[in-house]
Amino acid sequence: MTSSSSPPPQWPPEISDQQREQLTLLATTYALSHGLICLPPANVQPPAPTSAIHAPLALFPSPFPRKQFELAKRLQREYNVLYARVAMDEEFLDRVMGAERGVGRVDEFTGHLWRIWKSLRDQGIHQSRHLGLFRSDYLLHSADTDGAPTVSLKQVEFNTISSSFGALSQNVAQMHRYLAATTEYFNSSPYLKPDNLPPNETIAGLVEGLASAHRTYGATSAWILFVVQPGERNVFDQRWLEYELIEKHSIHVIRQTFDELAVSAQVLTGSRVLQVRLPGLLPDGSESVEISTVYFRAGYTPNDYPTPRHYSTRQLLESSVAIQCPSIPLQLAGGKKVQQVLTQLGEMERFLHDVSPDLRSTWMNMWALKEPGGDHTEGVIRARQGALNLVLKPQREGGGNNVYKEDITSFLDTLPESEQEAWIAMELIKTPEGLGNYLVRAGSGTEGAVKAEVVSELGIFGWALFGGPEKSIEEKEVGWLLRTKGKDSNEGGVAAGFSVLDSLVLV
Ligand code: ADP
Ligand code: MG
Ligand code: MG
Repeated sequence: MTSSSSPPPQWPPEISDQQREQLTLLATTYALSHGLICLPPANVQPPAPTSAIHAPLALFPSPFPRKQFELAKRLQREYNVLYARVAMDEEFLDRVMGAERGVGRVDEFTGHLWRIWKSLRDQGIHQSRHLGLFRSDYLLHSADTDGAPTVSLKQVEFNTISSSFGALSQNVAQMHRYLAATTEYFNSSPYLKPDNLPPNETIAGLVEGLASAHRTYGATSAWILFVVQPGERNVFDQRWLEYELIEKHSIHVIRQTFDELAVSAQVLTGSRVLQVRLPGLLPDGSESVEISTVYFRAGYTPNDYPTPRHYSTRQLLESSVAIQCPSIPLQLAGGKKVQQVLTQLGEMERFLHDVSPDLRSTWMNMWALKEPGGDHTEGVIRARQGALNLVLKPQREGGGNNVYKEDITSFLDTLPESEQEAWIAMELIKTPEGLGNYLVRAGSGTEGAVKAEVVSELGIFGWALFGGPEKSIEEKEVGWLLRTKGKDSNEGGVAAGFSVLDSLVLV
């Protein structure tokens, strides 16, 4: 869906230095009071944290076209179903991501995950239901159609593992609503009124997904396991989900790293029940808890598996009857290679009989640098020719892995032919220009609000609980996130230090 762009609002609106300082004080104190926070860079791993800093944030909400926002929310239901079906299609994933025929042959990490999954399948899968907490990411794309400037919604990627910032996005939306209520942003813009600030209830929405998996598992006394990274600074984004689980659903959570689980986790022979041993720490004095659902906020990067033992621990968890969020096939379904293959003629129809034109309209052009067994030069030649309009992506998550524009040529000069198959080329989304905001980062050396020209990336959250003998899919769209970065940065991650948390003002 494309819409002609109305004249963009002046952004950020004009305010005085004194007003900016006042807004910054109100924003940062609100953030600290309401858990819009993260751990400071130093001493990230004390046994109990003693200090926190506010999360990087934008002082104003950023303008976003209402039509494109509503389209993104509507498409989420289709994407939930699509990716659930991809995850249930073993033949497709073996072909595209497998270590015998697909990307797993040339990408070690993908291959490793696929081989674990294959060996679990050979032994017999004990839990055929999967849970996904998804985030589909978009940028606005401006183009000139027949001399008229248009703006449309384009998908950056679809995340199936560790989709983060759901909780903090709700908090930052509340912070902007508070600033609007308490200062009216000094009447600096007619756009800044409550009707234009959409509700954000992502915490309850994501937790509803986790609670549904827990209920489906069917043991009320079981706990949910959060698998986390050692030294995670973005812990409060995860803690909010825990608080909601215990307060609204009476479901307990235990957080453990792969290293801790290597010692504490066991799967009972026979029942295949997953237990975590917590001697001395359980309210009823028992030694261990049964786990209903395993929620991964780790495990998406090879850095999370420094030794073979870390992979064995992942395998142990997935060999149980606990529902995995995500299972390995669902993690593989989120690969950039899958996103690219789905844009090829006929591939989508395997999963959705009626692919809506709106869904297709969100795709940028993508191709493989090399097709399996295919011509090994065509994709690379196209990438060299079009380099300045392209980004190259490997099968990685978490930011900082892509190669952009003028770096592409020299990168291709050194990329061994044997690895070309692990990369996709994607046309760059051309984001509208002329919007700015004040970016506020703590502990960065640049205290205070820094004005910058910006680009905003919208994320829509959804969940899907699917599988079982009938291959059913229960799914929902549950909220949104806006991340805003300086316009000269190619990358966009908040945790990776490129972006700040932001919210929407619909225009
Ligand atoms: P990751 O899984 O590491 O987050 P992404 O595909 O989201 O990988 O890429 C990281 C960032 O790179 C995005 O947040 C976005 O800012 C930028 N990016 C990715 N693809 C494109 C694209 N086609 N056009 C413009 N920017 C892009
Ligand atoms: Mg991303
Ligand atoms: Mg990603």
